[in-house]
Amino acid sequence: MNRLLAGLTSGDSNPDLIRAQLDAFLRQLPLLHLTLLVSIICIAAIFFGHAPDYLTLYVPAALMAVFFLRAMSLRRIRTEAVDDRTAQRVLRVIAVLAVLLAASFAAWSLALLPHGEEQQKLHALFFMCIAAICTIFCLAHVRAAVFTIIALIIGPIVLYFGSSGHPIFTAMAINMAFVVAAMVYVLQTNHRTLTAMVGSQKELSATQAQASCLSDENLRLAHLDSLTGLPNRRQFFARLEERFDLASQDPCHGFAVALIDLDGFKPVNDLYGHGVGDKVLLEVGERLQAFASDSIFVARLGGDEFGLMMDGTAPDSELTDLGQAVCTALQQPYELPEALVKLSASIGLAAHGTDQESPRQLMELADYALYEAKQHHRGSTILFSEGLDIQLREMMQLDLELRGSDLESDFGLEFQPVVDADSGRVIAFEALARWSSPSRGPVSPAVFIPIAERTDTINKITPILFGRALEAAAQWPRDVSISFNLSVRDIMSPSALMELIDRIDRSGIDPSRIILEITETALMLDFEVAVDALELLKQRGVQIALDDFGTGYSSLGYVHRLPLDKIKIDRSFLADIDSNPVSLSIVKTIIDLSRNLGLGCVAEGMETRAQVEILRTLGCEAMQGYFFSRPVALTQTGPLALSGFAMQVS
Ligand code: C2E
Ligand code: CA
Ligand code: CA
Repeated sequence: MNRLLAGLTSGDSNPDLIRAQLDAFLRQLPLLHLTLLVSIICIAAIFFGHAPDYLTLYVPAALMAVFFLRAMSLRRIRTEAVDDRTAQRVLRVIAVLAVLLAASFAAWSLALLPHGEEQQKLHALFFMCIAAICTIFCLAHVRAAVFTIIALIIGPIVLYFGSSGHPIFTAMAINMAFVVAAMVYVLQTNHRTLTAMVGSQKELSATQAQASCLSDENLRLAHLDSLTGLPNRRQFFARLEERFDLASQDPCHGFAVALIDLDGFKPVNDLYGHGVGDKVLLEVGERLQAFASDSIFVARLGGDEFGLMMDGTAPDSELTDLGQAVCTALQQPYELPEALVKLSASIGLAAHGTDQESPRQLMELADYALYEAKQHHRGSTILFSEGLDIQLREMMQLDLELRGSDLESDFGLEFQPVVDADSGRVIAFEALARWSSPSRGPVSPAVFIPIAERTDTINKITPILFGRALEAAAQWPRDVSISFNLSVRDIMSPSALMELIDRIDRSGIDPSRIILEITETALMLDFEVAVDALELLKQRGVQIALDDFGTGYSSLGYVHRLPLDKIKIDRSFLADIDSNPVSLSIVKTIIDLSRNLGLGCVAEGMETRAQVEILRTLGCEAMQGYFFSRPVALTQTGPLALSGFAMQVS
């Protein structure tokens, strides 16, 4: 039975083709039914009264009932909703039914013929031809059924009439044979077209699926960081916007953001190369991923900066605990085949609050907390708090005042002598910025310089002060140098750097008398760019001093890569040098290092005779500090340069 069914269907195993055939058939089904019904009614009417009632009433009624039932059952079928196997099964059942119905129809017609006259027989033949043509057309996509109908039903009818000896019947039979042959040809061509169409449609949808897969993949990649596989900055900010809107509408959907910045990652890159740097970042990503959950979202924001987003309204202590746990995880050594790397991470945290107007504002708070952590609590977490809020507002207020200040009249310089450790002669003055705020009075550079550095205000202050420092130096003896502090922003932007070089060139001062001081912390922000900038300055003949040495990453390994002339030992090591053997040992190492590298060495913050004596014994060649002189006004520099300081050898 199965073989018979299989033979009656198209025999195609392509499920798409089967589906297309079923679809086409179902669309033509109403037409088929209508034609057959009209034919049945017409033939029954023609023979009514001539043939027995069961042939003109009951059989046609039964045939119509079967057509009706079939129409109803097939009406429910939706090709897009059936699976491949069902489609094939339905098609087979349709084919079998079609053959059975056609056979019944033909048998019924043939049974009527003997009861009619010539005219009626002609009518019956006409309707049979119409029904046959219509059936073939409607079953065009169920080819095997068509062939079966032709072979088992139309063939015998044609033969019956063809061999009747009646010229009209014979002509009609020949005509019908030609029409059926032509239809078989058209049907075959249509089938090939349908097969090709289904094939190309399949190819097209495969290509479309491929294209959509590709675009899905591109979309996925566009939201992932290529190195760590973590969500990237774009995704982080998209989610931030989403969370922010949600939390602003409903305070129950509170959340917090954490900005994570690695401390000392740049030296790792510089010392061991980018390959090792990448491996470290990869492992940092993995360690952070371990914290990810349904409520904690982890992303890499770029470089050595990562971000966390924590859903929920956790108390402050819980947030800082989480931050500390992250710090601890990232602090564990990174055991790589090339090196054992040690790092720490500083974290700035801020929770969503009702007073925040935008996601950007929330990020600024986290960024400020991070800045605070970086400045004063490296390797730990700072949560943006009320205290920080006051500090931030104060900072913003100060920045506003800085910008509103008259740069020419409100800013000035004081000069602190740098003394030769042997002779006591003043070998240089360090220019130190002073700001007299119209509303606050004198503000320490330790306060306003970091604020000016965070904005671009420093780029307006530096050129003016540098110009004044050079003017001052022009008044001093030729063997007295001028030391000037530079911020990272002064050398990172090409235009600011060119302005410095231009001022050096125009000053007429021997460039070797100009010492530019830069802190190692500043250098670490972008080591490579900083080195290039310093080299450019050095080519102009100026000297470069590494300021506050020992307070930053203190990675002795990279000092030799900098175009340095001097190292300034930070005063924090000198304060307790007479009582703390560790400080003594550090200072001794720095002095030895500078000697080995052929660099000059300046000890800062000399306040007592004891400190001076120790430093002299250690072989430090230059000193600076309140012991000799506090920073003084320009007018006092001349006499100091002339008199120098008495150095007593104990
Ligand atoms: P710095 O470059 O390390 O400058 C030395 C600081 O130590 C000065 O503070 C100086 O007054 C102070 N100092 C000197 N000797 C002693 C001492 O014996 N004991 C103590 N306790 N302190 C001493 P000041 O003038 O307040 O400057 C603070 C910082 O502000 C400077 O530290 C420097 O980093 C920055 N700064 C000052 N002027 C400028 C400037 O024109 N540009 C830039 N970018 N930074 C500046
Ligand atoms: Ca300095
Ligand atoms: Ca210093």
